[in-house]
Amino acid sequence: MADCVFCKIVAGQIPANVVHEDDATIAFMDIGAVNPGHVLVATKPHVENVMGLDDALAGAAFRTVARVARGVQAAFGPPGISVYQANGAPAGQTVFHFHVHVVPRWEHDGMAVHWPVKNPPREELAANAVRIRAALR
Ligand code: 5GP
Ligand code: ZN
Repeated sequence: MADCVFCKIVAGQIPANVVHEDDATIAFMDIGAVNPGHVLVATKPHVENVMGLDDALAGAAFRTVARVARGVQAAFGPPGISVYQANGAPAGQTVFHFHVHVVPRWEHDGMAVHWPVKNPPREELAANAVRIRAALR
Protein backbone atom coordinates (compact mmCIF):
# COMPACT_ATOMS: atom_id res chain seq x y z
CA MET A 1 0.00 0.00 0.00
CA ALA A 2 1.66 3.17 -1.25
CA ASP A 3 0.54 5.52 1.51
CA CYS A 4 0.79 3.09 4.47
CA VAL A 5 3.45 4.02 7.02
CA PHE A 6 4.01 0.42 8.17
CA CYS A 7 4.34 -0.81 4.55
CA LYS A 8 7.06 1.83 4.19
CA ILE A 9 8.82 0.49 7.29
CA VAL A 10 8.55 -3.08 5.92
CA ALA A 11 10.04 -1.88 2.62
CA GLY A 12 12.84 0.04 4.39
CA GLN A 13 11.61 3.32 2.87
CA ILE A 14 11.39 5.02 6.27
CA PRO A 15 13.59 4.23 9.26
CA ALA A 16 12.54 2.14 12.23
CA ASN A 17 14.36 0.59 15.19
CA VAL A 18 13.85 -3.05 14.27
CA VAL A 19 14.16 -5.71 16.98
CA HIS A 20 13.09 -8.77 14.98
CA GLU A 21 12.29 -9.65 11.38
CA ASP A 22 11.27 -12.85 9.62
CA ASP A 23 9.45 -13.79 6.40
CA ALA A 24 6.01 -12.81 7.68
CA THR A 25 6.53 -10.27 10.49
CA ILE A 26 8.59 -7.31 11.62
CA ALA A 27 8.91 -5.90 15.16
CA PHE A 28 10.10 -2.37 15.86
CA MET A 29 10.05 0.25 18.59
CA ASP A 30 6.84 2.33 18.79
CA ILE A 31 7.68 5.95 17.98
CA GLY A 32 5.09 7.04 20.56
CA ALA A 33 6.24 4.57 23.24
CA VAL A 34 4.03 4.51 26.33
CA ASN A 35 6.84 2.93 28.38
CA PRO A 36 10.50 2.14 27.62
CA GLY A 37 10.59 -1.10 25.61
CA HIS A 38 7.19 -0.62 23.89
CA VAL A 39 7.38 -2.67 20.66
CA LEU A 40 5.01 -3.05 17.71
CA VAL A 41 4.74 -6.40 15.93
CA ALA A 42 3.39 -5.92 12.38
CA THR A 43 2.66 -8.34 9.57
CA LYS A 44 4.83 -7.83 6.49
CA PRO A 45 1.88 -8.18 4.09
CA HIS A 46 -0.51 -5.23 4.23
CA VAL A 47 -3.48 -6.58 6.14
CA GLU A 48 -5.78 -3.92 7.56
CA ASN A 49 -6.78 -5.67 10.77
CA VAL A 50 -7.27 -9.04 12.51
CA MET A 51 -10.04 -9.98 10.06
CA GLY A 52 -7.47 -10.15 7.26
CA LEU A 53 -5.22 -12.75 8.90
CA ASP A 54 -5.25 -16.30 7.59
CA ASP A 55 -4.17 -19.09 9.93
CA ALA A 56 -0.54 -18.97 8.86
CA LEU A 57 -0.20 -15.21 9.26
CA ALA A 58 -2.07 -15.24 12.58
CA GLY A 59 0.27 -17.94 13.85
CA ALA A 60 3.34 -16.08 12.62
CA ALA A 61 2.16 -12.83 14.20
CA PHE A 62 1.56 -14.33 17.62
CA ARG A 63 4.79 -16.32 17.53
CA THR A 64 6.60 -13.03 17.08
CA VAL A 65 4.51 -11.36 19.81
CA ALA A 66 5.50 -14.10 22.28
CA ARG A 67 9.15 -13.95 21.24
CA VAL A 68 9.26 -10.17 21.56
CA ALA A 69 7.48 -10.32 24.93
CA ARG A 70 10.17 -12.73 26.18
CA GLY A 71 12.84 -10.33 24.92
CA VAL A 72 11.18 -7.28 26.51
CA GLN A 73 10.84 -9.20 29.78
CA ALA A 74 14.50 -10.19 29.74
CA ALA A 75 15.74 -6.73 28.70
CA PHE A 76 13.57 -4.47 30.90
CA GLY A 77 12.32 -6.77 33.68
CA PRO A 78 8.86 -5.20 33.96
CA PRO A 79 6.48 -6.68 36.54
CA GLY A 80 3.80 -6.83 33.82
CA ILE A 81 3.35 -6.78 30.02
CA SER A 82 0.21 -5.74 28.14
CA VAL A 83 -0.43 -7.22 24.70
CA TYR A 84 -2.83 -4.84 22.98
CA GLN A 85 -4.30 -4.86 19.50
CA ALA A 86 -6.92 -2.50 18.01
CA ASN A 87 -9.23 -3.09 15.02
CA GLY A 88 -11.11 -0.12 13.62
CA ALA A 89 -11.24 3.50 14.74
CA PRO A 90 -13.77 2.94 17.55
CA ALA A 91 -11.36 0.37 19.01
CA GLY A 92 -8.54 2.91 18.92
CA GLN A 93 -6.77 1.82 15.74
CA THR A 94 -4.86 4.71 14.14
CA VAL A 95 -2.57 2.85 11.71
CA PHE A 96 -4.65 0.58 9.49
CA HIS A 97 -2.00 -2.09 8.92
CA PHE A 98 -2.26 -5.02 11.34
CA HIS A 99 -0.03 -4.69 14.39
CA VAL A 100 0.13 -5.78 18.01
CA HIS A 101 1.50 -3.64 20.85
CA VAL A 102 3.83 -5.31 23.36
CA VAL A 103 3.95 -2.85 26.26
CA PRO A 104 6.05 -3.43 29.39
CA ARG A 105 4.02 -2.32 32.41
CA TRP A 106 4.83 -0.94 35.83
CA GLU A 107 2.50 -0.06 38.69
CA HIS A 108 1.09 3.47 38.33
CA ASP A 109 2.56 3.92 34.83
CA GLY A 110 -0.51 5.88 33.72
CA MET A 111 -1.63 3.43 31.03
CA ALA A 112 -5.31 2.69 31.59
CA VAL A 113 -7.85 0.66 29.66
CA HIS A 114 -11.37 1.57 30.76
CA TRP A 115 -13.28 -1.72 31.09
CA PRO A 116 -16.94 -1.00 31.82
CA VAL A 117 -18.10 -4.41 33.08
CA LYS A 118 -21.80 -5.12 32.45
CA ASN A 119 -22.14 -8.63 33.95
CA PRO A 120 -24.98 -9.69 31.59
CA PRO A 121 -27.26 -12.58 32.57
CA ARG A 122 -26.05 -16.12 31.78
CA GLU A 123 -28.85 -16.57 29.20
CA GLU A 124 -27.50 -13.63 27.24
CA LEU A 125 -23.96 -15.09 27.31
CA ALA A 126 -25.34 -18.42 26.10
CA ALA A 127 -27.31 -16.82 23.26
CA ASN A 128 -24.29 -14.80 22.18
CA ALA A 129 -22.11 -17.91 22.21
CA VAL A 130 -24.60 -19.68 19.93
CA ARG A 131 -24.53 -16.76 17.48
CA ILE A 132 -20.75 -16.73 17.30
CA ARG A 133 -20.41 -20.54 17.09
CA ALA A 134 -22.81 -20.54 14.13
CA ALA A 135 -20.80 -17.80 12.41
CA LEU A 136 -17.32 -19.33 12.79
CA ARG A 137 -15.60 -20.17 9.50
P1 5GP B 1 -2.77 1.91 16.97
O1 5GP B 1 -3.43 3.07 17.69
O2 5GP B 1 -3.15 1.85 15.52
O3 5GP B 1 -2.96 0.60 17.68
O4 5GP B 1 -1.21 2.19 17.10
C1 5GP B 1 -0.42 2.78 16.12
C2 5GP B 1 0.92 2.99 16.74
O5 5GP B 1 1.85 3.25 15.71
C3 5GP B 1 1.00 4.20 17.70
O6 5GP B 1 1.35 3.73 19.01
C4 5GP B 1 2.07 5.09 17.09
O7 5GP B 1 2.93 5.65 18.07
C5 5GP B 1 2.82 4.13 16.17
N1 5GP B 1 3.38 4.77 14.98
C6 5GP B 1 2.73 5.58 14.11
N2 5GP B 1 3.57 5.96 13.13
C7 5GP B 1 4.77 5.38 13.39
C8 5GP B 1 6.03 5.41 12.70
O8 5GP B 1 6.23 6.05 11.67
N3 5GP B 1 7.04 4.68 13.27
C9 5GP B 1 6.86 3.96 14.41
N4 5GP B 1 7.92 3.29 14.88
N5 5GP B 1 5.68 3.91 15.07
C10 5GP B 1 4.64 4.61 14.56
ZN1 ZN C 1 0.56 -1.36 5.13
